[in-house]
Amino acid sequence: MYEIPFNRPYQTGNEWAYIQDAINEGKLSGNGKYTRKCQRFFEKKYGFGKAFLTHSCTQALEMAALLLGLGPGDEVILPSYAYVSTANAFALRGCSLVFADCRPDYPAIDETKIQRLISSRTKALVIVHYGGVACNMEMIADLVEENGIFLIEDAAAAIDAYYISHDDREIPLGSMGHLATFSFHETKNISCGEGGMLVVNEASFFDRAEEIWNRGTNRKSFDQGSSNAYEWVSLGSAFAPSEINAAWLWAQLEQLESIRKKRKIIWDWYYQNIHSLLPGFEIEKPIVPIFAAHNYHVFYLLCKAEAGREQLINHLKNKGILSVFHYQCLHQSPHFRSQYQGEPLIYAERYQDRLLRLPLFFDLERNKFKSLLLA
Ligand SMILES: *Cc1c(COP(=O)(O)O)cnc(C)c1O
Repeated sequence: MYEIPFNRPYQTGNEWAYIQDAINEGKLSGNGKYTRKCQRFFEKKYGFGKAFLTHSCTQALEMAALLLGLGPGDEVILPSYAYVSTANAFALRGCSLVFADCRPDYPAIDETKIQRLISSRTKALVIVHYGGVACNMEMIADLVEENGIFLIEDAAAAIDAYYISHDDREIPLGSMGHLATFSFHETKNISCGEGGMLVVNEASFFDRAEEIWNRGTNRKSFDQGSSNAYEWVSLGSAFAPSEINAAWLWAQLEQLESIRKKRKIIWDWYYQNIHSLLPGFEIEKPIVPIFAAHNYHVFYLLCKAEAGREQLINHLKNKGILSVFHYQCLHQSPHFRSQYQGEPLIYAERYQDRLLRLPLFFDLERNKFKSLLLA
């Protein structure tokens, strides 16, 4: 056991009451009162086209691949420095994966290196807003439009984070892609244990998304009386979570602002004090580009080299603090490396080897962190 774990799930206090209320409603399967409350919250606050709660962001990505009708022969471009599910969802449909490198300054896809990866078979570009920090969206939107491909924002960790346009508008992450995916996994800012959401911004996909979400059936039009039999109409799966999960999520969404505020205090504290808390370690602080208003999801450090990171992890561990690293580059993963034929992706590998995440959760005790380290 660590004195300071990497993450501690936070409860706002209303979760149990809402779960009891969901039980009293007499409908515990999906698409009930709390599911609709959560979905409407996102559609209203962020201007998302349509929101569909799922069991995970992994499922939302799988739903996205189904919805776009992708299959063998189709190429999907995505960053190598990403979570397994970002790739798996498209690999499951038989797509060819084309991996892109990161920017030198922070762990987002390098938008200047995407064009050269586009071919006549490219169908979609998947971007990851790493740690809730926006990618360079205006350039990416131009690329997508010029090449006539779909844009999927893997906004798993990017709830309530924004891209700041050249004319100073704050545009919510998840509102710019044809599709976007979010996670409410225990480790994310807002959680319900396991949970996720697919956002569909492209109106021509709304009806199909509904069918895919409803196990490939016409559930919605049947319930509305516009179909006279309940039947199989497309590929699909059971993507909707139960009302119990949605009720828990609703309690968290209500506290979105205060959760963000608390995380900001911790993030800023790390940013200002980390060099004096870790004297003697060669570390670089994270860079947040001017076009990103982030959500304080991740506080990471970049170590000088892999050995330096190992040393820092052990130092923190000896003081009772758990720090973790991620992601292992997908293009070099045991599953994919024998298929990879592209260039070396040097920045993706650099983050893989050198990035270290510090604990960041709602009730992290800063004084305890400090006294453990400096004792
Ligand atoms: C957390 C995360 C996921 C996976 O989310 P789950 O809800 O656990 O499936 C996918 N992509 C990124 C970028 C993530 O951070």
